[in-house]
Amino acid sequence: MTTNDELFARGQAVIPGGVNSPVRAFGSVGGTPYFVARGEGAHVVDVEGRRYVDYVQSYGASILGHAHPAVVAAVQAAAAEGSTFGAPTEREVLLAEELVARVPGMEMVRLVSSGTEATMSAIRLARGATGRRTIVKFAGNYHGHADALLVAGGSSVAEQATSDSAGVTSGAVADTVVAPYNEVPPLDEDVAVVIVEPVAANMGLVPPADGFLQGLRDACDAVGALLMFDEVITGFRLGVGGATERFGVAPDLWAFGKVIGGGLPVGAFGGRRDVMERLAPLGPVYQAGTLSGNPLATAAGLTVLRELDADAYERLDGIAGRLADGLTSAIGGAGLDVQVPRVGPLVGLFFGADPVTDFVTAKVSAETGTYRRFFRAMLDRGVALAPGPYEALFPSLAHTDEDVDRTVTAAAEAATEIAR
Ligand code: PLP
Repeated sequence: MTTNDELFARGQAVIPGGVNSPVRAFGSVGGTPYFVARGEGAHVVDVEGRRYVDYVQSYGASILGHAHPAVVAAVQAAAAEGSTFGAPTEREVLLAEELVARVPGMEMVRLVSSGTEATMSAIRLARGATGRRTIVKFAGNYHGHADALLVAGGSSVAEQATSDSAGVTSGAVADTVVAPYNEVPPLDEDVAVVIVEPVAANMGLVPPADGFLQGLRDACDAVGALLMFDEVITGFRLGVGGATERFGVAPDLWAFGKVIGGGLPVGAFGGRRDVMERLAPLGPVYQAGTLSGNPLATAAGLTVLRELDADAYERLDGIAGRLADGLTSAIGGAGLDVQVPRVGPLVGLFFGADPVTDFVTAKVSAETGTYRRFFRAMLDRGVALAPGPYEALFPSLAHTDEDVDRTVTAAAEAATEIAR
């Protein structure tokens, strides 16, 4: 049998850190990552045959759970017809129509291959459309790894305790302004776009304060800046129309990823028609991609979206509610200070008593080190949380009451163990 240790050692010899995305290396929780052999609904099984209830779910990409039969069938059928052409295909139009129909105010969309590409391209579009330079982002919000956005990011950028990455020139971030989350920043006439995670999910889970998103809308309107919601996590997860519908605030631009690819590499950015028509080939803002609108990815994405009706969101909300309530009482009952924020299907986990409302307060919780110990104790009990304190939990539609109850039992034991 191949072991996790063996694969990690071999991986480290040929892949930097043994992983293709930093958080997977377990740097902030310690130990050897489990190498997944297969996923089945709410579970993953590692190469040593160990089974975990999985709350990573590809950081939110797998909303139906792993290897959903309809998605598997759609991808297999698509693959049999050819996986990429360099010419348009019908499913690209169908997926774009689905996205535009669901998100209030979004009139056109372009498909790309990752969330990073979506935000990066939308920033270029915003600058091209407004003729302005400055972008405003919020500390602890993560928008992918494009140079201009790699400032005060959350997720594993936060774990590595770097607010900037090496290799990013000062010029690349010179026009990026960082503001604290949940405060409407002062804007001026140089601002092209304000980009925000409408629910912050890369510094743990931090809901928007009442009036924050509307405040951003009003502030952008006052100076003629565009507002972009980065819905790579929240899109098609918070509900049929994502954050726009839930909070009743429409931005000018949206970025999507994860859910809309059904587990294959997809991103999308969209907006009002007059802004989107600034893109090549109609307008002067260049953007392109060999694999954009890929036939396999669009097949998977369409299949997932068709499963996501109002009833599915209600079920997902119920699963997340059971999980959040269960974790709160299991961990609190063991005598640990814990906060389990929840926005619909998204669940967070902060240790410590001080309320978390922004990156500064999220860091206070992360730096207690309790998450690391809790993560390990949960993994020992067959529950896979994200290997870092700045991530959210992603219950899927495949999680049963039994999965959640097992998780809660494990959490009570884990919390008791680490409270000792
Ligand atoms: N935006 C948000 C809010 C994200 O959470 C992520 C990834 O986690 C991205 C953008 C980048 O997406 P990708 O990893 O697909 O490039």
